[in-house]
Amino acid sequence: MHYDYLLVGAGLFNATLANIFVSKGKKCLVIDKRSHIAGNIFTENLDGINVHKYGAHIFHTDNKDVWNYVNSLAEFNRYTNCPVANYNGTLYNLPFNMNTFAKIWSDVITPEDAQKRITEQAAEMAGRIPQNLEEQAISLVGRDIYERLIKGYTEKQWGRKCTELPASIIKRLPVRLTFDNNYFNDRYQGIPIGGYTQIIEKMLEGCDIQLNTDFFDDKEKWFSLADKIIYTCTIDKYFDYQFGELEYRSLRFETETLEKTNFQGNAVINYTDAETPYTRIIEHKHFEPENKAAMEKPVTIITREYPATWKKGDEPYYAVNDERNSVLYAKYKELADKQDKVIFGGRLGMYRYFDMDDTIIAAWEMAKKLF
Ligand code: UDP
Repeated sequence: MHYDYLLVGAGLFNATLANIFVSKGKKCLVIDKRSHIAGNIFTENLDGINVHKYGAHIFHTDNKDVWNYVNSLAEFNRYTNCPVANYNGTLYNLPFNMNTFAKIWSDVITPEDAQKRITEQAAEMAGRIPQNLEEQAISLVGRDIYERLIKGYTEKQWGRKCTELPASIIKRLPVRLTFDNNYFNDRYQGIPIGGYTQIIEKMLEGCDIQLNTDFFDDKEKWFSLADKIIYTCTIDKYFDYQFGELEYRSLRFETETLEKTNFQGNAVINYTDAETPYTRIIEHKHFEPENKAAMEKPVTIITREYPATWKKGDEPYYAVNDERNSVLYAKYKELADKQDKVIFGGRLGMYRYFDMDDTIIAAWEMAKKLF
């Protein structure tokens, strides 16, 4: 069988594209080296609880078309992400809002008090443009919050000092002078009832799928099989690391089933001190609070998330968009643009941080260029 498209990787990016290709009558083959579809948004039902196998995935978007699209594939619940931070045993609300400020500074009662205290603390940065994440954080919320809620978490997550990280990482964290614990500013938010895997299943309807199949085991065969290839694995690997390795951050997940109904009372608790080796604990049943059977069951499933430095053979999760890597990526991108048969997509193929909605939008844009 000859295909119009071979899609390497069965994650959200390729599934979005495949859905369009099939609707246009194209023949598609999707391969993935894992034993399942859905990439990192894969959820698996264990003990009646949908487990986010590769970390917490909360769908949020400002784009109405994207929201309508995902809602046409599954029913979404009204989950709102309100993570809590645990700093050496004391709990604080995230993102930084009046609940956080009132807890950290006991004399802060009103938004005016909070603003005054933040301004006082940010004064140490007076007149200087923040050059790194530490300076950016202090000018945004002051040193008290930086030291309790940002420093330890960020240094664990990225494996380097906040003074050596770009300010841009922290820019997406909201700071609010209201009592609003909703982590995201987007208009639409929720989790698909029954998990994410069913969404990808629907998107891939009409495609041939081969799991446990590594593109690199037989590149030539895959090339001969299709007119075009959409490749969503790492871009440097495709080019045999010829300019050197791009850097990624990896994650290790430790999942445990506990004989209790409710372990932490929230889906996500961040551990923001430097000593705790993990960055967060996810308690999966809280992502679907409308699932009464799971909520009342005297069993719960939790996952501890440990950040890790990526080395060949590990799962890459995040691109590290610092200067060295950006320069290196630009070289690979130049090569990629010269390929007439292969197109690079997704977080790893485009070496970029994508939320789920951005992933769908990027795939739609690619489809527009193709047709
Ligand atoms: N962050 C932090 N403390 C927290 C949560 C986040 O300092 O409790 C910072 C940290 O620098 C992190 C960035 O905000 O890298 C983005 O965090 P988020 O949890 O949004 O990233 P995710 O891993 O979920 O994409």
